[in-house]
Amino acid sequence: MSFNFKIGGTTSSSSASEERVQVLILGSGPAGLAAALYAGRAELNPLVLTGLEVGGQVTLTEIIENYPGFPEGVKGPELAERFKKQAERFGARLVMDVATEVDLRQRPIVVKTYSTTYRTDVLIIATGASPRKLGVPGEEEYTGRGVSYCATCDGWFFQDKDVIVVGGGDSAIEEGLFLTRYARSVTIVHRREQLRAGPLLQRRARANPKVSYLFNTVVEEILGDGEQVTGVRLRNVKTGEVYEKPIDGVFIFVGYIPNTKLFEGQLELDERGYIKVHDWVHTDIPGVFAAGEVADPVYRQVITSAGMGAAAAIAAGHYLDEVLFAEEEQQAENTVQASGEG
Ligand code: NAP
Repeated sequence: MSFNFKIGGTTSSSSASEERVQVLILGSGPAGLAAALYAGRAELNPLVLTGLEVGGQVTLTEIIENYPGFPEGVKGPELAERFKKQAERFGARLVMDVATEVDLRQRPIVVKTYSTTYRTDVLIIATGASPRKLGVPGEEEYTGRGVSYCATCDGWFFQDKDVIVVGGGDSAIEEGLFLTRYARSVTIVHRREQLRAGPLLQRRARANPKVSYLFNTVVEEILGDGEQVTGVRLRNVKTGEVYEKPIDGVFIFVGYIPNTKLFEGQLELDERGYIKVHDWVHTDIPGVFAAGEVADPVYRQVITSAGMGAAAAIAAGHYLDEVLFAEEEQQAENTVQASGEG
C-alpha cells in the first residue's frame, strides 16, 4: 500500500529534478549532523536536507556548558559549525532545503522538496522540535514586537526594559538568566509553586538580583498598543485574582512540540506527536530511523541528540547491509540459477 501525505495544505510540489541517494537525513541539528558524520565515515554518502537554518536549536543557545570536550563551554552557533564541518569532512552533503512531502511506504522511500524529488534507501528523521505557544490572545499579534521564543536572538532589544519569562523549566531559567544581561528586571511567571528547572540553574537565578518570581500565575492575555507589547493580564490560579502588569517583553519557554506533521498517518507517533522508536532509533517502518528531539521527549540534550544521530546512522548501515544488500545478492543468485536452468 502506498501513502502520500502533504504538509499544511502544500499542493503537490512541482519537484523539477530527481535524485537517487542512499541515506537521506532530514534536519541539521546535533542529531542530523551526528548522523551525517557517522554515515559519511561509513561511506554511505549521506545527503542532509538542513531546513531553513543549519544547526537547529543549538544555534539559538548562547553558551552550552554541558557538552563534553568543552570545559569552558562553547557558543551554540560555534558548536553547530563544528558539527557541520566535521560531517562535511567525511563526505556528507548539506543542501539547504525543506521536505514538503514524504512517502515512506514506497521503495525507495520518496522525499519531495519544492525543487527536487529524492528517492532514498534509508531515511533518518532528525527534524527536532519547535517552541510551544501559550495560545493566549495577543501572542500571535505581538510575536516579534515584544513576544519572543529566543532570548539569544532578541534579548539585546530589551536593554534596561522590564520583561517576563513564562515557564518554570531549564529553558525558562537559563534564558531568563541570559536576559538579565540586558533587561532591568526579569520576572519568571510560573503556573505552579515550584520550578521544574535543575538545582544549579535555580541557585544561579536566586543569586541574581534582577530575577524575581510570580508563582501560581498564568498569562491570560498579552496586551499592546497595536505596535508593541505594553503589558500582560495575569491570573493567580490559587486566589483567582486577575490583574494587569505593565511590561516591555514576554519571553515564552513552555516546552517544545516535535516537528512530525509531515509524517502523520505514515509513522507511529505517541499522543504528544513524538515519533515512537524501539531499540533507541528504529521506527515502525524498516529503513526509517528517528533521532534527537523528534523522538525524545525525555532527555533532550545536545549530547543525547548527537548520540541518537550516531546510533541512527549505525543502524542505517546495518539495515543496508542486512536487508538491501542481502536482497541484491539473492536477486543475483536467482538470476544465475535461472540462466543455469535455461
Ligand atoms: P520543560 O522542561 O518541558 O518545561 C516547560 C515548562 O513550561 C514547565 O515549567 C511547565 O510547567 C511550563 N508550561 C508548559 N505548558 C505551559 C502552559 N501552557 N502555560 C504555562 N506554563 C506552561 O521544557 P524546557 O524547559 O524547554 O526543557 C526541555 C528539556 O530540555 C528538559 O529536559 C530540560 O532539562 C532540557 N534543557 C536543559 C538545559 C540545560 O541542561 N542547561 C537547558 C534547557 C533545556 P510545569 O512545570 O507546571 O509542567
